Amino acid sequence: MWHPLQADFPQQSPLNDFERGPLSVQAGELIGLVCCGSGCVRPALNPRSDWPGWLEPDVFDPQRHQRLVVIGRWQGLPLLLQLAHRGQARKEGWPDLRSWLLQSDAAGFDLLATAAGLANWEEQHRFCGRCGTRTQPRQDEYARECPRCHLRQYPRVSPCIITLVWKEDALLLARSPRFAPGVYSTLAGFIETGESAEQALHREVMEEVGVAVGNFRYLGSQSWPFPHSLMLGYWAEYQGGDIHFDGVEIEDARWYALDDLPPLPPPTSISRYLIDSFLQWRGFNV
Ligand SMILES: [Zn+2]
Repeated sequence: MWHPLQADFPQQSPLNDFERGPLSVQAGELIGLVCCGSGCVRPALNPRSDWPGWLEPDVFDPQRHQRLVVIGRWQGLPLLLQLAHRGQARKEGWPDLRSWLLQSDAAGFDLLATAAGLANWEEQHRFCGRCGTRTQPRQDEYARECPRCHLRQYPRVSPCIITLVWKEDALLLARSPRFAPGVYSTLAGFIETGESAEQALHREVMEEVGVAVGNFRYLGSQSWPFPHSLMLGYWAEYQGGDIHFDGVEIEDARWYALDDLPPLPPPTSISRYLIDSFLQWRGFNV
């Protein structure tokens, strides 16, 4: 279902100057290196003012760069992924991926989400899941292939639902112990094998806060590489039941009046988009 607010949110328009996938790079060509590992991203040592702060300029040297994953081309510039050494990110105090993403513009968000997803996949699919042989990257698509049994492994994408539960003039918001103090947000969870997104909405909301929902409205999606989620954002209308929660995964959940909301997640997150777009729909200025 098309929603008129959808275009205001990151990742709702094509990133026209980003060509995805492995491609060839010539010796001596200017490249951008993204160095990721352990959920962190290295700040560029020689940052350029017109590039994201995590993108390191370098010149392609086949001896040093041949084995790195090519993420694609951004504005014609080849982007390569360099995986951190074990313990390097912590030792050098790199900022975490979440903080980089939340301060990114639309293009930076796409590039970084792609790099982080590929980094996670590279780290975790070095061996064939069927026969145990060391896998090799393919040159024509994002895939690693087993040279022995030819099983191909693609970067993982795990669909999740995220939903704003509403009734009349109130929103159901919850907080997890992992959130910043005082912040309340929407509900989210992974879609399980064999389930539709709608079934996951019914199940997750019932499991987390004990209420029945329906009248789903799809708003938009966002890549969220923690570690490889694709968030599918919905509004869900309350249908019945009293709020109850386990006190572990959810430490508090309650109804908030539209004009008296608690501290919310940052604006780049899909959770905040679901809330802000609802308020706009109801005539509030956000
Ligand atoms: Zn194999």
